[in-house]
Amino acid sequence: MLLTRKSSDAQAASPSSSLVSSLARGVSRAIPTMDRRAFLRRSGLGVGAGLAASQLTLVRKAHAADAPKGDKSSKIEVRRTVCGHCSVGCAVDAVVENGVWVRQEPVFDSPINLGAHCAKGAALREHGHGEYRLKYPMKLVDGKYQRISWDQALNEISARMLDLRKQSGPDSIFIVGSSKHNNEQAYLLRKWVSLWGSNNCDHQARICHSTTVAGVANTWGYGAMTNSYNDMQNSKCAMYIGSNAAEAHPVSLLHMLHAKETGTKMIVVDPRFTRTAAKADEYVRIRSGTDIAFLFGMLHHIFKNGWEDKKYIADRVYGMDKVRDEVLAKWTPDKVQEVCGVDEATVYKVAKLMADNRPSTVVWCMGQTQHTIGNAIVRASCILQLALGNIGVSGGGANIFRGHDNVQGATDVGPNPDSLPGYYGVAEGAWKHYAKVWDVDFEWIKKQFAPGMMTKSGMTVSRWIDGVLEKNELIDQDSNLRGLFFWGHAPNSQSRGLEMKKAMDKLDLLVVIDPYPSATAAMAAMPGKPEDLNANRAVYLLPAATQFETSGSVTASNRSLQWREKVIEPLFEARTDHMIMYQLADKLGFGKELVKSLKVVAAKGGMMEPEPESMLREINRSNWTIGYTGQSPERLKAHMRNMNVFDVKTLRAKGGVDKETGYKLDGDYYGLPWPCYGTPEIKHPGSPNLYDTSKTMMEGGGCFRANFGVERDGVSLLAADGSFPKGSELTTGYPEFDHILLKKLGWWDDLTEAEKTAAEGKNWKTDLSGGIQRVAMARNCHFWGNARARAVVWNFPDPVPQHREPLYSPRPDLVDKYPTHDDKKAFWRLPTLYKSVQEKNKEISKQFPLVMTSGRLVEYEGGGEETRSNPWLAELQQDMFVEINPAAANDRGIRNGEMVWVKTPTGAKLNVRALVTERVDRGTVFLPFHFSGRWQGVDLKPYYPEGSAPVIRGEAINTATTYGYDSVTMMQETKTTLCQVEKTA
Ligand code: SF4
Repeated sequence: MLLTRKSSDAQAASPSSSLVSSLARGVSRAIPTMDRRAFLRRSGLGVGAGLAASQLTLVRKAHAADAPKGDKSSKIEVRRTVCGHCSVGCAVDAVVENGVWVRQEPVFDSPINLGAHCAKGAALREHGHGEYRLKYPMKLVDGKYQRISWDQALNEISARMLDLRKQSGPDSIFIVGSSKHNNEQAYLLRKWVSLWGSNNCDHQARICHSTTVAGVANTWGYGAMTNSYNDMQNSKCAMYIGSNAAEAHPVSLLHMLHAKETGTKMIVVDPRFTRTAAKADEYVRIRSGTDIAFLFGMLHHIFKNGWEDKKYIADRVYGMDKVRDEVLAKWTPDKVQEVCGVDEATVYKVAKLMADNRPSTVVWCMGQTQHTIGNAIVRASCILQLALGNIGVSGGGANIFRGHDNVQGATDVGPNPDSLPGYYGVAEGAWKHYAKVWDVDFEWIKKQFAPGMMTKSGMTVSRWIDGVLEKNELIDQDSNLRGLFFWGHAPNSQSRGLEMKKAMDKLDLLVVIDPYPSATAAMAAMPGKPEDLNANRAVYLLPAATQFETSGSVTASNRSLQWREKVIEPLFEARTDHMIMYQLADKLGFGKELVKSLKVVAAKGGMMEPEPESMLREINRSNWTIGYTGQSPERLKAHMRNMNVFDVKTLRAKGGVDKETGYKLDGDYYGLPWPCYGTPEIKHPGSPNLYDTSKTMMEGGGCFRANFGVERDGVSLLAADGSFPKGSELTTGYPEFDHILLKKLGWWDDLTEAEKTAAEGKNWKTDLSGGIQRVAMARNCHFWGNARARAVVWNFPDPVPQHREPLYSPRPDLVDKYPTHDDKKAFWRLPTLYKSVQEKNKEISKQFPLVMTSGRLVEYEGGGEETRSNPWLAELQQDMFVEINPAAANDRGIRNGEMVWVKTPTGAKLNVRALVTERVDRGTVFLPFHFSGRWQGVDLKPYYPEGSAPVIRGEAINTATTYGYDSVTMMQETKTTLCQVEKTA
């Protein structure tokens, strides 16, 4: 690895290295039983290292009995929590001595991580005691952050908000929520924004997997990973396309490596030879953004050779014939090679591997999703798996790895602009459902909104900058955005950094609520163009508690929920996010409504906050659509206490009784992966693999959802006769259950009288009694219907996925053959450009000839401020860098380790270190996306609150990324744009 170490001579050139030596000394002091060098050796690399890193913390197994002999005052407790970094969900035992988190152990009983951690998980304790955290509320005064009291902060912020509301309406404020909030906080934030009277809220999922959620849900029902990390041990072949799991989801690879030991084939398809590719049997390099050409190239061979699963398609898929015709005619091997650069023999080989080794699975991440055609790319992957009959099968599936620790849960129940929790949408019926759940009058909520805006989807986090900067007459709401909250979100994870800085300066109100000040603090304090600055702007930073300073549930990528115990009390002046929501709501006049249906308890300093258990119970009572109803706090806690009873390959409990409650675990799947239907008392076990007809409803089986009607152009959308989940009383396809269908089936009288009253006029999603679900489940029927998956999604811009060149294409010769979409008006409240940008930049590759793509590193996470503030991790990766091929470097006179400028068509330039490597091809460069704190060559340290700048600072790639958004979800294009690299003079 190129990057410098503390002991390296080259370190002298590192802009951040001077800090590291002193920090490293701090590290050795923190855990004296392991020196820094040993830690680096053990914890730096992915999964194998994760196992090694676990030794680090297992200096001895901690028990209360470990208190020093004779020291009666010393109290040692072990609190079980879950890593706060990625969606794998590794469990951690935190050892707390007299209220201080002193040590940690990976949980060996966890069926997810089996005692393994990656470097980030192994360094977790530092986040709880991080000295670089935001310690008290602050306000930007004359370019410097000054400490203020909580009272002053809450009073001033709420007064500003009410002013903005009066002048410009509730939609003038945008709330960027967090994928790091636990489920209860994410849910409460959506409620909070709703009671404020707006749909202008969003979170990180928009810019990581929104295209997956929309594309996959519109194909077969739910927009989530179908199987699990564990289930990959049952695969015979796995194709990672657009996923570098070895770095982004390190411990997940543990399961793949186990599978490989028993002969599973592993394929990696990626523009870059990643650490995951290094483990593969077959590595295929494609041009960034051309996944559809490759996937349909595979399908060409599958159809041509008759390898598709004909019975499965006939029984369970709609529209495959149309895809087949198009693939055979259009995606011939020569066209595939022309677009994605892969020859016929290689594509054939990969197709055959997937077809010969079923069940085979596909894994994807941001490599597929972050494109202007992201929704179409993910659907091409779905179609491949449907053609092979791999969905609804253990060992098969679409294993879509989510990013942050709770991005799945925040997507399910959190602050989304187009939906209330549980994908209910924002139509009037959804509001009435929640008005009832919240016990708040529907008309009162309606009056909080500007007229007509309650049922209109809000703006997205990817476009809030345009909400501020766009001409007012072109936006689809009264006022431009004037206030913005970054409530646990990194600004550097969003594209178009130069314009973001301008938008930040133009705001009236900017509030950061975060355990760390985040790059927002520095960007807001850094002087911009004087003409952009709003002289009345107010900027506040509020210290939020971490997930280790509260309790609550978190949903891993495989849809399993885990309960985190509180490890320590909130440090410094930090408050929990839900406490801050409650306190602000009070000031804004809807505190009573926010907690009317919740239990409020005393917390830090005697202050009141909603109780996490009570919030989860409210989620249980309301989220019938996705089966967040069966995971009561009690059941989740019992799972956490008894991880040892769950099988690693199936996640199913083999026997087991929870000693504390007497709860019988037998048959439950670990974490009750959603959907876990009905009330907790019904004891649905959760659904380990979605749409699996080989299991009964009560064993977690399922079928494709009937979301899209019963017929299309004379073709049935329901499953064929004889295709049904095991044990079902209905042995054919059928639509969704509602009160009418129940009556027609003659099952209405199975309801109790109370259930009948509640279910009248309702369907399985809106019947708050759960009676409709209960009756269907008793007959092993799936109340969401039994339908076909859609290979053709007729309501999307490209019903059959089409390859379209990116807006900034390196191939002007292909732009005419595969042009982008026409420009759109009023799309998520904003005009959105496609063709006009592409046409204008058709020849731009002459000046910017290199494809610029991005991805993760194992050492850091997300926007990276939190992990780059952790001295343990900071030691491992000290510089922002660009990977460049030796040929491209030599042509530019660049040598390994030198500083270079990366310039893009936006006019931005990044000063980073060159890593000359064959990992990328001659026409591509790669930059990691976890850095911030340097801005076009300038160190932003002076602009952070004193003592809170992250240890490692580097250029954010997104300072330089270009315009481009997915045509369905507003996902930003961050995987394929263009740049030039020059040696720093
Ligand atoms: Fe596990 Fe992910 Fe945390 Fe690493 S970052 S320990 S893989 S949850």
